Amino acid sequence: MIKLKGIAASAGIAIGPAYKLSREEWVIPKQRITEQEVPLEIQRFEEALIQTRHEILDFQKKISEGMGNDSVQIFEAHLLVLEDRMLIEEVISRLKSEQLNIAYIFSQVLKKYIEVFSKIEDDYLRERVVDIVDVGRRILRNLLGKEGRVRKLLVDIDNKVIIIAHDLAPSETALMHKENISGFITEIGGKTSHSAIMAKSLEMPAIVGLRQATEKISHGDFLIIDGAEGLVIINPDEKTLASYYHQEIKLKGITQKFLQVKDLPSATLDDYKVDLLANIELPEEIPSVKDHGAEGIGLYRTEYFYMNRKDLPTEEEHFQAYRHVAEALRPYPVVIRTLDLGGDKFVSQLEMPGEMSAFFGWRAIRFCLARPEIFKAQLRAILRASVYGKLMMMYPMISGIEELRQANVILRECKQELAREKISFDRKLKVGVMIELPSAVMTADLLAKEADFFSIGTNDLIQYSLAVDRANEKIAHLYEPAHPAVLRMIKEVIDAGHKNKIKVAMCGEMAGDAALTPVLLGLGLDEFSMPFSVIPQIKYIVRSISVAEARRLAAHALTLSTGKEVEIFCHERLRKILKAK
Ligand code: PEP
Ligand code: MG
Repeated sequence: MIKLKGIAASAGIAIGPAYKLSREEWVIPKQRITEQEVPLEIQRFEEALIQTRHEILDFQKKISEGMGNDSVQIFEAHLLVLEDRMLIEEVISRLKSEQLNIAYIFSQVLKKYIEVFSKIEDDYLRERVVDIVDVGRRILRNLLGKEGRVRKLLVDIDNKVIIIAHDLAPSETALMHKENISGFITEIGGKTSHSAIMAKSLEMPAIVGLRQATEKISHGDFLIIDGAEGLVIINPDEKTLASYYHQEIKLKGITQKFLQVKDLPSATLDDYKVDLLANIELPEEIPSVKDHGAEGIGLYRTEYFYMNRKDLPTEEEHFQAYRHVAEALRPYPVVIRTLDLGGDKFVSQLEMPGEMSAFFGWRAIRFCLARPEIFKAQLRAILRASVYGKLMMMYPMISGIEELRQANVILRECKQELAREKISFDRKLKVGVMIELPSAVMTADLLAKEADFFSIGTNDLIQYSLAVDRANEKIAHLYEPAHPAVLRMIKEVIDAGHKNKIKVAMCGEMAGDAALTPVLLGLGLDEFSMPFSVIPQIKYIVRSISVAEARRLAAHALTLSTGKEVEIFCHERLRKILKAK
C-alpha cells in the first residue's frame, strides 16, 4: 500500500482500478511487417507527410488572415521540418531494415531527433525542438488516423475506472462521463485549472498536480482517491479499504443533510437574502443545477461549445443553445460569459498560437476584440435568445473602461443590425463585467458607472494579483484565496459596486468555498455562483449564521495579516457554526 498526495481538486471518494491514459507517442503499436508490405508503409508515410503539409499550409493561411506575418514564420519552420531529407531518409532506411510498422519507426526516429536537438548548445537550434515535436505529433496523428488516441480511449472506456493522465485537455474532460469514469488524477494543474473545474461540474472526485502519478501508478492498480484531501492510496490493505467504504457512506449522509435545505430560501438567520447560482460548462448540467436548488446560472462558460468539433459554431447554433438554457431556467437568470478562450482553454479549430505565458496572452476579450466576426456571431445569438428568458451577459478579462467600451461598440453594432433585420431582442439586456484583473479592481469605481453588474472571477484575480499561475502545481501552495490582498480587493470591488448601485456577484471557485462563505457574506457579496454540487452546502451555511455575525467575522478577517491566519480563523468559525446547528 502506497499513499501519495497531490492537490485536492474535487471532493468525494472514488474506489476502483487505475486506467492510465498515455499520450500518442507511448501508445504506438509495434508490429512486424513483411517485406511486401514495406512499399505500402512508405506510401502511408508519404501520404501522412502530404496531409500534414496541407494542414500546415491551411493554418498558415488562416493565421496570416487573423494575426499577421510574425506568426506565419512559425509555420515556415514547420514546413522545413517536413522537408528534412535526413529525417525522411532515416525513417525509410530503418523501415526497410527493421521491418516494423511505419508509425513505430517514425516515433523512434522522432524521439532520437528530439534527444539530439535538446542537447545542442546553440540556443536557436535547441529551440527547434518545439517545431520538431509539433510537426512530429501531426505526422503521427495522420499515420494513426484522424482521431487523437486519447480521445478514442475516453469514449471507449466502459467500466468504472479512475483515469491517470499527465494532463487532460478541456476537450477531453468534456468527454468524460460518470457512468464509466469515477475519478481522475493528473500530474499537472492547480485547484482552479480547467480540469479541476470540470471535475466539480461532473461531481467527480479528482486530484491534480500529483507529480509522477503516471510513473508511480500502474495501469490496473487498485486505487482509493480522496478528492477532499488530494490523497491517493495505491493497492490499499483490507482495513484501509473498509474504512474508506465506511467514509463513503458517511459522506453520502452529510450530503443528504445538506440536500435537505436545497429548496429552502438562501437567507441568513436574521433573514438577509443572498442569491446562490450555479456555474455551468455544458447545457447538459441543467437538470442537476435545478436539482441542487440553484436560483439561476451565474456563469455559463461558453468555451466548451467550441470544443470537440472541427468547425466554429454558427450564430444559429449559439442561438439554439442559449435559447434552450434561457427557457430551461426561466424565470431564473442566466448569465452568459462571452468567449474566454486562451489561458488553459484552447480549441483546435482556431489554432491559437502556443504562447510563452498563455494566461497573460491572447485570451478572452482580447481575442474577441481582435476577431470581431467570431465575437459578433456570439453576441447576436445572445441578443436573439434574450427574449426567451432572463438572459444577461458579461465580458471576461476586462482590464479597464476602454475594453468595456470597445466591446460595447460591437454589441451596439449587433443591436443595430438586428433592429434593421427586424429581429427582436431584449433592449435592456444587462451587460456585466467580470472583475478578474487587479487593474479592474483599481478602476472598479469607473467600471461600475458603465456596467450593469460585476462578477468577481477570483480564479484569475488571485493568479494575477499574487502572480501565481493557477494551473502550475509547483506553486499551488502560494495560490491563496484567503490572502489579505485578495480579501481587500474583494471588499474594494463590492464597495465600488454598491456605491454605484450595482449588484456584485462572485463566480470564481472561491464562491463555493464553505469556509469563506461567512466572510464573503459579511463583506456584502450579493450573489454566489459555484459548481452546482456545492450549492446545498453553501445554502446550509448561509442559513446557519446571521448577517450581523458574518459582518463581524469579515471585519475581523480584514485585520489579519496572512492568508494562513485568515484560513485558520475561517475554518475554526465554520466548525463552530456547523456544530451549533
Ligand atoms: C474566474 O476567473 O474566476 C472565472 C470564473 O473564470 P474562468 O475560471 O473560466 O477563467
Ligand atoms: Mg477567469
